[in-house]
Amino acid sequence: MHAMLLRELGTSLQWTQLAERQPEPSEIRVKVAACGVCRTDLHVIDGELSHPQVPIIPGHEIVGRIDALGSAVNGLSIGERVGIPWLGHTCGVCPYCVTQRENLCDKPLFTGYTRDGGFATAVVADARFAFPLGEAGDDVALAPLLCAGLIGWRALAMAGAGSKLGLYGFGAAAHILAQVASWQKRSVFAFTRPGDLTTQAFARSLGVSWAGDSDATPPELLDAAIIFATVGDLVPLALKAVRKGGRVVCAGIHMSDIPRFPYSLLWEERELVSVANLTRQDGLDFLRLAPQIGIVTHTTCYPLTKANEALADLRAGRFEGAAVLVP
Ligand SMILES: [Zn+2]
Ligand SMILES: [Zn+2]
Repeated sequence: MHAMLLRELGTSLQWTQLAERQPEPSEIRVKVAACGVCRTDLHVIDGELSHPQVPIIPGHEIVGRIDALGSAVNGLSIGERVGIPWLGHTCGVCPYCVTQRENLCDKPLFTGYTRDGGFATAVVADARFAFPLGEAGDDVALAPLLCAGLIGWRALAMAGAGSKLGLYGFGAAAHILAQVASWQKRSVFAFTRPGDLTTQAFARSLGVSWAGDSDATPPELLDAAIIFATVGDLVPLALKAVRKGGRVVCAGIHMSDIPRFPYSLLWEERELVSVANLTRQDGLDFLRLAPQIGIVTHTTCYPLTKANEALADLRAGRFEGAAVLVP
């Protein structure tokens, strides 16, 4: 097999030939058809997360077909199309796992971060954490649902049922979530980097009620806001934009420091929370609903060997929607 391997933190990925791995009894091997590129991959590569591990193959929005099954795997078959998400393994026995909060597991493994991911021609995964995807939909179009869609879905649930929803940072996750929230009959307010008129126009093309600069005051107070951008300065801005009792959800795994802000922004029962990872139930719920919603993902494809280019374009905001690598 071949992979775009991260050998040292902070360096470019290298096209590398590796020995084909055989799955353990509880694992499957998947021939990768498409793998989305996520902001978290940049954090992994930059060494900004707390358990850096190299060498590692990044990538956790994997769509592919099973080509080898471990001896103890049930319910999956050779040739079946599956999706492999960020949550790659949980312990099953810690206080979080036994209370339906496996997203907070004490001994988890994460795809493309602490176990090898999908910037490769093949990946070995824990079978219990693979989602059957069926045959509807294109491999490339489905890939961004595996993290941008899923984490967005969990963040949306966390934001509550309010009808006026702000999305700060209009990239892969927000472009999917705006469609979900519109389908739920909510009004979506899209906030972008100041002056990014291209992304604001992109957001409007997806049916949002309003799009503007992240430091602008929206035309109405929001019931909730989700921050996807990795910019801590957005936290006080979002708190300022929500009504009394409103909630601000930080959906990224990493964020620059949050500046100090007056208590009056939090006062009147405004809430500030974060969302971490996903549970398998989140994945099942979202992937069941996604075809009904008719989500259209906007993707820019790169050959797997051009992964560094895709990552650089993501960092610079050079495309709308999501980048997807194809081996
Ligand atoms: Zn656990
Ligand atoms: Zn991700």
